[in-house]
Amino acid sequence: MKKYFFSFSLAILFSCNPDTTVKQDDGTSKPDPIIARIKGPLFNTDSAFNNIKTQVAFGPRIPDTKAHKNCADYFIQKLKSYNLTVTTQKTSGTTPIDQRLIEITNIFASYHPERKERILLLAHWDTRAFADHEEDPALSKKPFDGANDGASGAGLLLEIGRILQTQDPNIGIDLLFSDAEDGGLDNGAPEGWCIGTQYWTQHMPQNYTARFGILLDMVAGRGATFPREGTGMYYAASVVEKVWSAAGRLGYGAVFINDVVGRTTDDHLYINTYARIPCIDIVHYNKFERNYNPWHHKLSDNMEIIDTYIIQIVGNVLVDVIYNELPK
Ligand SMILES: [Zn+2]
Repeated sequence: MKKYFFSFSLAILFSCNPDTTVKQDDGTSKPDPIIARIKGPLFNTDSAFNNIKTQVAFGPRIPDTKAHKNCADYFIQKLKSYNLTVTTQKTSGTTPIDQRLIEITNIFASYHPERKERILLLAHWDTRAFADHEEDPALSKKPFDGANDGASGAGLLLEIGRILQTQDPNIGIDLLFSDAEDGGLDNGAPEGWCIGTQYWTQHMPQNYTARFGILLDMVAGRGATFPREGTGMYYAASVVEKVWSAAGRLGYGAVFINDVVGRTTDDHLYINTYARIPCIDIVHYNKFERNYNPWHHKLSDNMEIIDTYIIQIVGNVLVDVIYNELPK
């Protein structure tokens, strides 16, 4: 990933701490029925952390390598064990970064596929071919672990897949593990990125739609902040508001910050434009440095920088949003 079309900073003031109680005549309080929230199941941070660690242990999941294939098998086995309906989609394409013709594998897991009202959660699971943001030319051709860039989003999706069977959210949920997201060039065409998702949007299950989508990308890095990302703001501002206000209510306003930053080319762009599903991106971006994070496409993107505190926050926000999205 990916470049910003433009960058701007705009502080937006939202009321993120609504009074969640109503005062009674006798002076006591009861929960406000309008904004009382449904409590979802426990999002297990250790489980999500281990999902990330397991992916990294396969080696860099560079498309069409042994590590990549082993990791796909791991996802499929895990998702099936959670009683999800799993389909695998294969195609081929060329990733600009290494100019290789590769096999691409998207994995799609559905909870209650017959339900009409659905939420789409997605993350890319491939690893960029090499750490091209390293300044030393010798290092910039080396592969890297991609613990945050790739494995973190997929690891959190797997944990969501696990907890669905512990408490029914009463709505359909889909988990898309998209491939070949990270093979574009910083100064290249946007179509070089997100190849797996582009293919998926053109070959979705028949009549597929979802109320909205949430993309997770680099969601477990130490000290992460998640500003309101520009492409999501452009196409799906109400979904951004839904998620960031949920985070605010949970007390995570210092991580899910209200600053709006520029637009990024990430999988959600094609979910918005091709699939026409309003979709947002939870992505680690440092507004002061105007960069994603210090490890982006570098060798330092390894398990050392994975932070269970950030995993727990993102997991709790996802659970709150999913379990409060009720069927009509
Ligand atoms: Zn990347």
